[in-house]
Amino acid sequence: MKIQEADAKGLLLAQGLPVPGWTVARTAGEARSAAESILAAGADRVVIKAQVLVGGRGKAGGVKLAGSADEAEAVASAILGMSIKGITVRKVLVAAAADIVKEFYLSAVLDRAARRILLMGSAEGGVEIEQVAAERPDAIVTVHAHPHLGLADWQARDLAFRMGLGGQLKAAVAIAKGLVRTMHAYDADLVEINPLAIVREPGEGTIVEKLVCLDAKVTLDDSALPRHPELEALRDPDEEDPADALARAAGLTFIRLDGSIGCMVNGAGLAMTTMDLVKRAGGEPANFLDIGGGAKADRVAAAMGLILADPKVKAILVNIFGGITRGDEVARGLIEARAQQVRDVPMVVRIVGTNAAEAAELLRAARFVTAATLDEAAAKAVAAAASPGSGA
Ligand code: GDP
Ligand code: MN
Repeated sequence: MKIQEADAKGLLLAQGLPVPGWTVARTAGEARSAAESILAAGADRVVIKAQVLVGGRGKAGGVKLAGSADEAEAVASAILGMSIKGITVRKVLVAAAADIVKEFYLSAVLDRAARRILLMGSAEGGVEIEQVAAERPDAIVTVHAHPHLGLADWQARDLAFRMGLGGQLKAAVAIAKGLVRTMHAYDADLVEINPLAIVREPGEGTIVEKLVCLDAKVTLDDSALPRHPELEALRDPDEEDPADALARAAGLTFIRLDGSIGCMVNGAGLAMTTMDLVKRAGGEPANFLDIGGGAKADRVAAAMGLILADPKVKAILVNIFGGITRGDEVARGLIEARAQQVRDVPMVVRIVGTNAAEAAELLRAARFVTAATLDEAAAKAVAAAASPGSGA
């Protein structure tokens, strides 16, 4: 689950990381009053940032500075409602503009192959890190945290020196360790600070330089969310694909793909096998859909609704291996779903295992196209998708 910058900053702050204060505004008026209090507190400018779950907001015109309340209102009104990579901006973050001396990049990601948290740092912050990685891989320095011991101080110091942060050593060490702590605390997949910045701030009668997190991106591990029920509140309904929300509510694992053959399968392994066989038969799957174990008629109907809502779907392949899941339950769900179906899409059904005979009887009576083997089912579905209207 991706969360907004403002929420990510909240998590970082809770872990003791240095994050400058901010306010979230949903209207230009709210942005204006936020700017008024920030300017009244002594800042000479505010920064206004689009809150959308995509990167590159700066390049897209979604990050702007303003020097007065009037200007802040105008800038916010321009950013609110604008579209960034197809997403409409509904809220902005307002903060005192930082006086940036230099921008760095620092992130923690789950390195699945190494089974460890990997820290990546670079002195080339602010820009897209993918570009740095592609053009100048040497500009990125890395270190793994130990699964039990975490990131040792010496590792953090070494990373900081290699990133060119020797002058901010103490702060850099604290931040690097803080990222690892944040990963653990919330079961995050990614914690990315870009830019991590040295900024100039008025201190006691003089100007001081500090290292702060100016941007924050956190991705949470969906599978670990049940361990953190409070984080569920950070899900942004404005940006969730309605299909994903439906799938989650129905207890289905659903991933949309580009092809034309809708697949309804029970079990992740069988779902992958089914997709492979569709491809081998010359077709392209439109989705990965695991209806899970013990699915009843209503879950089957919900799955069918999700598949049919995708206009790319030209044929549906149902492949069920009955174990705990009863074949006749699935057949009943399919019959019910077809009765409510808004769009006539050819369907090929293969049900084996528990109560397969009862399922076959029901499907025959309802005149469904069935298949005995998975190869046959895949071939029929691919043929049906290629010649729509043929009824498989
Ligand atoms: P992103 O483009 O979506 O990654 O958004 P960022 O928050 O990283 O902002 C993009 C760029 O805007 C940063 O790399 C900075 O150069 C600039 N920026 C962001 N916040 C401030 C700020 O407070 N002051 C100044 N001067 N520039 C900022
Ligand atoms: Mn950024």
